[in-house]
Amino acid sequence: MENCYKVAIIGGGPAGIMAALTAKTKENRVVILEKNPFLGKKLLLTGKGRCNLTTDREIPEIVQAFGRKGKFLYGAFTRFSSQDLRNFFEKRGVGLKIERGGRVFPQSDRSATILNCLKKELALRKITVFYHFNVCRVFFKKGLYHLESPAGNVLAEKLIIATGGKSYPQTGSTGDGYLFAKSFGHQIIKPAPALVPLRVSDPKITALAGLSLKNVSLSFFNRDKLFTREFGEMLFTHFGISGPIVLKASKEVYQQLKKQTGVTASIDLKPALNKTILQKRIYREIHLMPQKEYQTLLKNLLPKSLINYFIDRTGISPHQKNSSLSKAQVETLIAALKNLTFAISATMPLEMAIITSGGVDIAAIDPKTMASKIAPNLYFAGEIIALDGPTGGYNLQKAFSTGWVAGFSSR
Ligand SMILES: Cc1cc2nc3c(=O)[nH]c(=O)nc-3n(C[C@H](O)[C@H](O)[C@H](O)COP(=O)(O)OP(=O)(O)OC[C@H]3O[C@@H](n4cnc5c(N)ncnc54)[C@H](O)[C@@H]3O)c2cc1C
Repeated sequence: MENCYKVAIIGGGPAGIMAALTAKTKENRVVILEKNPFLGKKLLLTGKGRCNLTTDREIPEIVQAFGRKGKFLYGAFTRFSSQDLRNFFEKRGVGLKIERGGRVFPQSDRSATILNCLKKELALRKITVFYHFNVCRVFFKKGLYHLESPAGNVLAEKLIIATGGKSYPQTGSTGDGYLFAKSFGHQIIKPAPALVPLRVSDPKITALAGLSLKNVSLSFFNRDKLFTREFGEMLFTHFGISGPIVLKASKEVYQQLKKQTGVTASIDLKPALNKTILQKRIYREIHLMPQKEYQTLLKNLLPKSLINYFIDRTGISPHQKNSSLSKAQVETLIAALKNLTFAISATMPLEMAIITSGGVDIAAIDPKTMASKIAPNLYFAGEIIALDGPTGGYNLQKAFSTGWVAGFSSR
């Protein structure tokens, strides 16, 4: 039969492409069904267009980064490791480099380099790709998977669902795979945003849009109880806060916000200095320029765009002479520097999350093969599997490793 394949893969993202590459043998006819007019639309966006394709961390550390249930991925990360992935690209002439935090990027700084290499390999192995093929119905009948789309129908002995999560739907990842999995009896853990910016309604905070802070400590509290703290880089946006440490904390913030008891963020702008040392530093500045104004003192302590905010926050006139600052005023300044607090009103929506947490429950997936424990000859790969990792190349490594295993097992 012309439209009958040994293996059909729904989704031409990194997981689906890698699955196709390993599923293909001389005898096997393999097809990727992709709703977009081209492959890897989300992949092109990754790492701000530079594609942080993996991490150079050791397997146990990668597994740990996926949290309590991360052990599920141990086998996949062992069978197709970060080193294997790097070898895959380097063997095909793609130079890679390792940046801060063990993040691996193509030397070209272009995610298109990674996608082009994958596409070339698909062509070399004569793997069929159907574009504009939006699978809208899937069922299993007489030993075959039937895949229906407005563009036509395909039959397959084995099916790999690699439709991604539900975030950035404009890339094609609209959560269709959850419905297919559910129709075969799989439990779906409710999709939620992970690695998502946070919304702040305080206009004084949103007025700081564009400001980026490095080496700060960011803590989150629920009713004065600290629940997470991150150190590093963050930025202010027109709707709230974002950047690496905000994204990292966002999944926990989302959980805490659900309790509806209020979440507060607190930035320590001087985490390297304890209160006493900071106090000494401020008094040293005051003694060095007693006749200068408070706003000049602030200039020596803060990024330019925070000065007006601090004048407002501390309630001290920008023109007050430094020598006349009272002990209480210095204390107020220290408190603002060490504990710049504001309320978090919400996370940005799932559509704006880098990653979807939730998805197909791992309880009914075999970690050795990525095969369904419920339906015959059905496999899952990539973000659709309910395990999400932090930023740093972990999620693409998961997509490639689970894709590799699902494809290999379906041969
Ligand atoms: C802005 C952004 C930056 C990111 N940066 C990084 C990074 O630097 N490093 C990192 O590790 N991770 C990063 N990620 C996460 C990473 O991109 C994803 O985890 C990864 O793409 C998941 O791969 P996947 O193949 O499972 O799914 P996807 O890449 O989402 O691919 C799924 C494919 O399935 C197709 N599809 C869906 N439904 C159907 C259907 N019904 N019929 C046909 N086709 C269908 C979609 O069109 C899509 O092409 C980033 C994500 C975003 C949004």
